[in-house]
Amino acid sequence: MQSSHYTWRTVQDGKVRSSHADREGKVFLWTKPPKGGHPGEDFNCRCWAEQNVAEADKCYYKRLDKEEAQRKYEDHSAQLPSIEADIQNLKLEIEGYEYDLSILNQLYDAADIASNVITIPLPHTRIFGGFSVVAKVIFIAKIHETEAAMREKNAELKELEEIQRILLRDNERLRVKFKFSEQAYEQCMGS
Ligand SMILES: [Zn+2]
Repeated sequence: MQSSHYTWRTVQDGKVRSSHADREGKVFLWTKPPKGGHPGEDFNCRCWAEQNVAEADKCYYKRLDKEEAQRKYEDHSAQLPSIEADIQNLKLEIEGYEYDLSILNQLYDAADIASNVITIPLPHTRIFGGFSVVAKVIFIAKIHETEAAMREKNAELKELEEIQRILLRDNERLRVKFKFSEQAYEQCMGS
């Protein structure tokens, strides 16, 4: 859409004729050319007409709104896949810890049963029982360590899931905002 007027611009050096230098920054109507014509029309004139974008496109600001809303929505959407991937990785890590824990618990139970032979008065049972008691202590420490690591991962997972929930909610809001601004722009263009 063509604007009804323009701003006269000169190259602003010493060679600009004084009559044009006087017009620098002034507004003229396309329908009423000043003496010598519009910028660039006069012999050797290097001046140009600066369009007022906002005037040239009456929907300019609506288009900016629409583009900004779209950009925000797209930026936002782009974050979601990596968060989803992080959540899946954490879930796998937690499953790994759960598996480790089930094995460690079985080992602990086995050591617990084995440690009972300490009461049987036979040669070597005391040694075997002693080893089993030590093994129990090691396994219980390992179980606590694994449980602590798993708690940490679970807390991380909860945090990420919360971020994901907020992102999804914001994304819905941004999507609606984008749709509205798009409609407003299209209405403006159609009017
Ligand atoms: Zn000129």
